Amino acid sequence: MYNRKLLLILIIATFLMASCSNHFSNSRPKAQQGIMDLTQIQFENHVIQLDGEWEFYWNQLIDPNEIDNGMITGYIDVPSSWNHYKTEKIAISGDGYATYRLTFLTDKKERLALKIPRMHTAYKLWVNGELMGRSGIVGTTKNTMTPQYLPQVAFFEANKGKNEVVIQVSNFYHRSGGILESIKLGSEKQILGLRYKKIAYNIFLFGCLMCMGTYHLALFIFRKKNTSALYFGTFCILIGIRTLLVGECFLIYLFPQFNWEIYHKIMTLTYYLGVPIIWMYFRSVFPTYFNVRILKVAQMIGTVFGALVILTPARIFTVVNPLYQIWTIIAMIYLSTVFIKISANKEKDSWFIVLGASAFLLSTLNDIIFVSVWMNDSGSIFLKTMFRTGDLSSTGLLVFAFANSLLLAKKFSKSLEQEEIITAKLTEVNKNLDKIVLHRTEALVKANEKIEQQKLELEKANRKLKDLSLRDPLTELWNRRKYDESIKLEWERCLKYKRPIALIIMDVDYFKEYNDYYGHLAGDKCLIKVGQTVMSSLSGSNHMVARYGGEEFIVILPDTDKEEAVKIADMLRQNIEALHIFHEQSLASNYVTVSLGVSCTIPDINISYEDLFRAADMALYQSKDGGRNQVNFCTIKS
Ligand code: GH3
Ligand code: MG
Ligand code: MG
Repeated sequence: MYNRKLLLILIIATFLMASCSNHFSNSRPKAQQGIMDLTQIQFENHVIQLDGEWEFYWNQLIDPNEIDNGMITGYIDVPSSWNHYKTEKIAISGDGYATYRLTFLTDKKERLALKIPRMHTAYKLWVNGELMGRSGIVGTTKNTMTPQYLPQVAFFEANKGKNEVVIQVSNFYHRSGGILESIKLGSEKQILGLRYKKIAYNIFLFGCLMCMGTYHLALFIFRKKNTSALYFGTFCILIGIRTLLVGECFLIYLFPQFNWEIYHKIMTLTYYLGVPIIWMYFRSVFPTYFNVRILKVAQMIGTVFGALVILTPARIFTVVNPLYQIWTIIAMIYLSTVFIKISANKEKDSWFIVLGASAFLLSTLNDIIFVSVWMNDSGSIFLKTMFRTGDLSSTGLLVFAFANSLLLAKKFSKSLEQEEIITAKLTEVNKNLDKIVLHRTEALVKANEKIEQQKLELEKANRKLKDLSLRDPLTELWNRRKYDESIKLEWERCLKYKRPIALIIMDVDYFKEYNDYYGHLAGDKCLIKVGQTVMSSLSGSNHMVARYGGEEFIVILPDTDKEEAVKIADMLRQNIEALHIFHEQSLASNYVTVSLGVSCTIPDINISYEDLFRAADMALYQSKDGGRNQVNFCTIKS
């Protein structure tokens, strides 16, 4: 809020400053039929505009001493262009030449000064017959004249009573001809004051705008993303240059020989190119609000008119200038509606730009109306009183540039602040980084340990599962599948080391009868006991017993010869009989008994473990056949 008020005060102050430089007197005498009565005026306090009806000699360039012999065409309003002046014979255009005369009356002899504005487009001025000032060369044709804009000050001794101002003006270079701005009369001090203030203000504006322009361009150079700085900087420089060309035309003082055409081209270009550039700036700041197509149109129009300025002489392009002015007013209406939308949406920080831009748009509007009113001589008295100065836009832009710089400063401060906060946060984080890393590492190690443990458990479970798949659920001995695996391995090993390997096949005698007599549950228990007995009877670490199926068991005895194997088999037979499990139905004994078949060999490549099995099976058959509860041995038959 505080900032907003500050900006408002600034805008008002700037406009006051600008209007101070256009100081006008309250008393406004008017010339009538070429005569102006200034006998009541105190020149110490007042600056008078020599406005009103001047004597007008069309198509005549007359020196003061011959003017009484001249043919007066009529009276013309000063200031105004002669374009719409109608003589009895013809309506005249912008091209041509004429002599103006005004007689003014003062009540005493005193030193006075004239502030002569630029005229369209060359002039020669006498006061009381004495040549006081000239700008360019006045001529009767385009070739004999040289245009120049040169506002200046002239001092002279005013007579008591009649004084005479004679001005010759010629124009073949601009669309409008004649005296388009007021000639001011006052004391030396007053007029010089006016002149100095205006020049000082123009140079002040020029300096400010150039500084801001170059500063924004520098911002762009160091940060290419920042296109708004590019557009704004360019625009400031354009208008800065323009400040030197309009108003007091300070550039002509620096370079008196500066070509009028080029001068005019530059002045017009700053305006024509300024419109699309400022538009691009607005769009870069509020991208969503500005339609790209309309902007493209603005760029195209700017380019076409710009090209026209470069390619054609001022006499042609000044004719189309009103078109561009109309276009500018349309553009300003469009921009204003967009700004209203932006401020209605309360876009962040938009008021800086909206307020600044409004100041600028209003002052530009003033300038355009001023130029069209005076140059076309079409404005009403009211308009002419309203729009008295044509170089407000530079001041407006200054306000705008200042608002923009405020915004920039605010943004910078904000981002610096942000940076400080982030830096503080970063320092804090860095401080705690060691702790955080340690913490994380611990958690990671724990997680790893857990995974490792889970892996072990999984492996264990897998092993168990595999083990289960190789075990016989009833007796918990290895099953047939495990036997198949093991015999293969042991056979290979014994083959490799030329070691003997023996096999025992064992079958419970009359077990069907046992089952039938004692029941299946008892049968199962019996099988479990038999299995455990075999298991506990075997002492060798590499001995391996499996339930082969039903009531049949099989024992692998690696590194065991025939004698040893038969001994073990008989030991098994005895141990089982010694269990004394009653078996009334057995024909072999009162107790459960087993028959065993043994085979043994040293493996070679011509036989296989299946041959070994067959031999053991054969031996078992012999044991059954021989009365059961006995051990038999069979060799492998080749
Ligand atoms: P042999 O002396 O000639 O071997 O006669 P046997 O009756 O023992 O032989 P057989 O092959 O005729 O009968 C085997 C019996 O074993 C048949 C079946 O009821 C029994 N048996 C096989 N597996 C199981 C088991 O898991 N549990 C029980 N309770 N009985 C079984
Ligand atoms: Mg059997
Ligand atoms: Mg049996």
